[in-house]
Amino acid sequence: MQTTITDADLRATFRAFVIGQAEPWHRAHLGRLYTRWDEWNAAFFQGRLAPPYILFSPHESARAYGDCSNISSFGGRAQIRIRPSLLTGTHRHMRQGESFAEGLARFVTDVLPHESVHQWHIEITGQIEESYHGHGPAFAATCTQIGAALGLPPVRSMKRRGSGAAMPSCAQWLICVRSADFYLGAYAYAQAEDAQAQAEDAQAQSQPAAVLAALLDQIITDVDAARLAEARAALVRIRRLVN
Ligand SMILES: [Zn+2]
Repeated sequence: MQTTITDADLRATFRAFVIGQAEPWHRAHLGRLYTRWDEWNAAFFQGRLAPPYILFSPHESARAYGDCSNISSFGGRAQIRIRPSLLTGTHRHMRQGESFAEGLARFVTDVLPHESVHQWHIEITGQIEESYHGHGPAFAATCTQIGAALGLPPVRSMKRRGSGAAMPSCAQWLICVRSADFYLGAYAYAQAEDAQAQAEDAQAQSQPAAVLAALLDQIITDVDAARLAEARAALVRIRRLVN
């Protein structure tokens, strides 16, 4: 006899497997993320979201900490991926070692709510905001509303304009509204970017064409993804190189 399995069944079964029977590392870390997801679903989405597939798996773009896809890798729905190097600390923005374990766990747990807001707009409101790569006014409004309940400051849509231009972009929410010490030193974005810029400056002395090509490739990728702030930063680096 053939049994039909629905998408909702499979998502619930996947989650039950992860929580109950996955390998210990996955059970511990994905289990914590599912607990977090449950809390957010109840507190901010009226319990209306169905459990997503939560995976430790990198996005194609090295810059993305996580993503939420309407269609999963195997043709199901609602897949949330989190870059595993954020938890192990091998990501270049993170610090490794036992003393950073708690901060790394906090960071990864903060990547999930961002993806939950994407899930909300994909599955419930239908406001996908494609021209903003998902980070438009509707996404920003949801982040701001949830943030207000948590005592966190508001964010703007990813396109910087108007009176809200000085606010942080929702493309980096929830990380961007946390206080500097919230991740207990495990998140070292500015230091990592400085170190990379210095390494590129050093390389530029010996191989200027290679550095220029890499920066131009980065600008093309950033423009395609409407990441204007990042594209501008790369242009500033090029300006400095030709001094
Ligand atoms: Zn996003």
